[in-house]
Amino acid sequence: MMSDIRCRIISEPHDHKAVFRQTSVKSPYFDGDDYEDVPSSKISYLCGDCGFILAKNIHSDQISQLLKSDQKGLSIVLQCPQCEKFNELSTQSKS
Ligand SMILES: [Zn+2]
Repeated sequence: MMSDIRCRIISEPHDHKAVFRQTSVKSPYFDGDDYEDVPSSKISYLCGDCGFILAKNIHSDQISQLLKSDQKGLSIVLQCPQCEKFNELSTQSKS
């Protein structure tokens, strides 16, 4: 199972966020292809502006672990290497 999530574009964060910046190498920040045997659903996170793949085939538990390891209220922001917009990463699978 695989699904794509378009991230929310935010203005450039200054505090209280974990920001990943990558403007020289145009490749996904995270690639979960190494975990292909795990039978949970996979999610790709796309830039909310241009659709660039920011994180590829990430398992839902991986991303929630990533988010959980942060301080309370902290979110992860990925700068799109292509359009340089800031994408806020969040788990949207809680419904
Ligand atoms: Zn983009």
